[in-house]
Amino acid sequence: MKISPALEKLAKCFPSRLYLVGGAVRDYLRGVETQDFDLASAAKPDEVKSALEGSAFRVCDSSPKLGTLIISGGGVRFEHTTFRTDSYPEGSGVHKPDEVVFTSDIEEDCRRRDFCCNAVYFDVESRKIVDPLGGVADIENKVLRTTRAAKDVFSEDGLRIMRLIRFVSTLGFAPDYEATNAAKELVGRLSDVSKERIRDELDKTLQGKNLCTALELALQTGVLKEILPELADNEDLAQPAAFHRYDALRHAFHTAAAAREDIKLAALLHDVGKAEAWKKDGNMHNHAEYGAVTAREITKRLKYPNAVIAETEILVREHMYDINANAKENKLRRYVARNYAVIDKLIALVRTDSLGTGIFSDCPRADRFQATLDRMKEEKIPFTVRDLAVNGDDIKNLGFKGEKIGKALSLLLAESIDGKLKNEREALLRAAARLAGRAD
Ligand code: ATP
Ligand code: MG
Repeated sequence: MKISPALEKLAKCFPSRLYLVGGAVRDYLRGVETQDFDLASAAKPDEVKSALEGSAFRVCDSSPKLGTLIISGGGVRFEHTTFRTDSYPEGSGVHKPDEVVFTSDIEEDCRRRDFCCNAVYFDVESRKIVDPLGGVADIENKVLRTTRAAKDVFSEDGLRIMRLIRFVSTLGFAPDYEATNAAKELVGRLSDVSKERIRDELDKTLQGKNLCTALELALQTGVLKEILPELADNEDLAQPAAFHRYDALRHAFHTAAAAREDIKLAALLHDVGKAEAWKKDGNMHNHAEYGAVTAREITKRLKYPNAVIAETEILVREHMYDINANAKENKLRRYVARNYAVIDKLIALVRTDSLGTGIFSDCPRADRFQATLDRMKEEKIPFTVRDLAVNGDDIKNLGFKGEKIGKALSLLLAESIDGKLKNEREALLRAAARLAGRAD
């Protein structure tokens, strides 16, 4: 394993044997580079602090209660945890241990971790692997096996069930039978985990290369029903065979898996309204409308930033536009301008939606949106009021007052988008003057 000079130096001034552990070791054994270096040792936080005093390393507490430290120096940043045993409030699934007891026994430290593949240690000085629980073999066999009875591991901290799904997605590992069963049984523990943590795990899961497999596991274990019940409702919802190879839920899985990384969430949720549309209307015509409202509720509930909430809602609402690919040019231009802030993502979503059917390999509708956008750019069409060659003051000087100023600008924009008006100052001022009833 390649050890940075900074880490080598740190090991030399450390008060006890220093180990890399977790993702860094796991990923090294998988032949994958990592950026995240978690350290562990028997040294207690105070011992580390005094040993590193006056050294090139800076130490600060990241969680005083758990005894985790951030150590930085030589342009690198490490997180150090002292070997410990955690004790959780009985069966609460709360994620945070209510008490930690430091230990000098590496095997005890192993047992408080989630999966054996995450409990392999690399001795920085001797460069030897320490593997008390057989994690190296699990990494070779791509297995997720808990460090103790799976039921205990998951009932202590429900987040570990989300981590299980995440590792399936990002590592391509498969849980063993015991872990799968325990996840099913204890999925209710997720309700004790904060929405922010669930969201963060979902985001990491969405970026994995084995997303379909992970989402299928989320469905089979009940995780999906727990975190995204509205989406889980789409299971087995049949779709017309001419357009779809999968049921509505599996189509969402495939679309998310094929999606670009910046539209994964929208891709997963794009058809979330289908079950509701089917229930209420007996058809799916308005599923994008229903879905947009539901997507907003979901992203709000999972405490996504406001920008993500708003963007996801728009992408879901607009993804069906011109489904018959026969909209007139001026309608398309208005659609592109209306959604300009997200147009690149929207086109990508529409295209991926096609691929996710398992039937189509191209998407003339997305091609048309793209061609329209390209043409409008070439013609230097203003996409927003701000792009107009005149501003509010110009309009005010023509005698417009209050909200009439905004209305006039919007009209000028609409005419420019339609190609009826050139985005040139003189032409716009003349058109505005006509609107004011002061034709020149
Ligand atoms: P990555 O850094 O690639 O996201 P990781 O496995 O390193 O994955 P971290 O969150 O960095 O995950 O945690 C480092 C290690 O701490 C893990 O490998 C695992 O041994 C342990 N760990 C982290 N979170 C938990 C948890 N909720 N329960 C038990 N052990 C955990
Ligand atoms: Mg890590």
